[in-house]
Amino acid sequence: MYRTKTCGELRRSDVGQTVVLAGWVQRIRKMGGMTFVDLRDRYGITQLVFNQDANPELCEQANKLGREFVIQVEGSVNERSNKNINIPTGEIELIVSKLNLLNASLTPPFTIEENTDGGDDLRMKYRYLDLRRPNVRSNIELRHRMTMEVRRYLDSLGFLEIETPMLIGSTPEGARDFVVPSRMNPGQFYALPQSPQTLKELLMVAGMDRYFQIVKCFRDEDLRADRQPEFTQIDCEMSFVEQEDILEIFEGMAKHLFKTIRGIDIKEPFLRLTWADAMKRFGSDKPDMRFGMEFVEIKDIMQGHGFSVFDEAKYIGGICAEGAATYTRKQLDALTEYIKKPQIGAKGMVYARVEADGSVKSSVDKFYSQDVLQQMKTAFGAKPGDLILILSGDNVMKTRKQLNELRLKVADELGLRDKNKFALLWVTDFPLFEWSDEEQRLMATHHPFTSPNLDDVPLLETEPEKVRAIAYDMVCNGIEVGGGSVRINNPQLQDKMFKILGFTEERAQEQFGFLMNAFKYGAPPHAGLAYGLDRWVSIFAGLDSIRDCIAFPKNNSGRDVMLDAPAPIEQKQLDELHLIVDVKKQ
Ligand code: ASP
Repeated sequence: MYRTKTCGELRRSDVGQTVVLAGWVQRIRKMGGMTFVDLRDRYGITQLVFNQDANPELCEQANKLGREFVIQVEGSVNERSNKNINIPTGEIELIVSKLNLLNASLTPPFTIEENTDGGDDLRMKYRYLDLRRPNVRSNIELRHRMTMEVRRYLDSLGFLEIETPMLIGSTPEGARDFVVPSRMNPGQFYALPQSPQTLKELLMVAGMDRYFQIVKCFRDEDLRADRQPEFTQIDCEMSFVEQEDILEIFEGMAKHLFKTIRGIDIKEPFLRLTWADAMKRFGSDKPDMRFGMEFVEIKDIMQGHGFSVFDEAKYIGGICAEGAATYTRKQLDALTEYIKKPQIGAKGMVYARVEADGSVKSSVDKFYSQDVLQQMKTAFGAKPGDLILILSGDNVMKTRKQLNELRLKVADELGLRDKNKFALLWVTDFPLFEWSDEEQRLMATHHPFTSPNLDDVPLLETEPEKVRAIAYDMVCNGIEVGGGSVRINNPQLQDKMFKILGFTEERAQEQFGFLMNAFKYGAPPHAGLAYGLDRWVSIFAGLDSIRDCIAFPKNNSGRDVMLDAPAPIEQKQLDELHLIVDVKKQ
């Protein structure tokens, strides 16, 4: 037996026992005639003691150990005189009587402790060492517990976990596909699924009724902190259901996860906002509802007083930051700079402080009488000590989005985005289509199989951009954690969708013929949703990036620096695949 106990389980009640432990040497300290070793495994750290006087040979052996050596020790559990209350095993130590070196180690490139001296790149290159650090390991453990709870919850409701293939044709979710050449079918390619969307719909046609899968999805898009080229979805689909059924079941799942993982009771039903409302009130389809600062539109009050920036604007709106009148000129200038950054693109910001006596002092005082400023103050419901920040612009939607950035920034600065507070909501009634400047055509906001709101079907021909979809997103703390829709199950309606999306009949047939054909054999009404597992775990773990809850993530340029992938392949492989590589010099 390599061990009788783990490094995390010995307590004072074990004092006097003889045990065998195995693990990695985290630290060695020599003090007088004693050598102390912190022995680590997945479960914790146990202090080992080697006594020079009692056993000089053994102590000598211990003094030769290096960091990350793998050892096995036998010894007796002893109560520590110098207790460490910070770790669960801190009341005991092991007086070692036998030491067995299982494997040596090179000196690790960074310290393998909670606080490490290793930079991002180095840690990613040696991810297997990084994963030994307790804080990284605990994210992986959390992920495991969450997937177990997801399975438990869905199983209890009769969902079947069904695997779908990874080598498929294109499944459009609005990103580029990763493709895999087929050796046996020269010149032809598989695509890795952007999601199992079409396959799960086929499972509904197949009568599976309730499906789920914890599944890798692949999207070749530009990366951000909350995006990876491959990521994991909790993908679900149900038959004979409407939007309400889906919202109820998946609200239940969120509640179950919060309760079992974090011990938090989340109130149901969740807040719901229509997409139009969310955009108007918060300038975002994933508003962070941990705090207020709802937008107030003040065009009527502010126009017609000679301030040309406002007089020419199509939108004038702002937020009221409670108690923030103490913002200095410098802080306000920094905020202005922030929203003027090209990614946000605002032209400027107007501010107004409510003074202790209730009067308003603004950056545009020369255009506005105190009377008008008081009307504005009333519109915001602002009190003495509050700060009003106003943006304006000639594009309503754009200005709202800029105001959203300002709202989030100010909330960050005021400490309103507490990671231990959770605000969940559904955003519903997304537009069915959105205009793509890049493609110069309407694109499906969600995907082409999403059902329009049946009240809006007449608008499909005339004003498609006004058509609402039966689509919903779940949002937690300003992050989209899941989304789905009721699907089209009427072949004529699906044909119409493809037409609006610019598919010719042939192309629709070529790409989605299998699905359209299946729908001719009795497709049940069906709907579904996918949760982003990585995002859920990172929210539960309080992480800023989903990378930290993925065992082997890619970096921001989509590289696995540990495996050094992607990489060129050998000519022989290229030949077998009938591929010619033609990389233009950049
Ligand atoms: N396939 C969708 C997605 O990946 C989710 C769904 O509609 O169920 O976003």
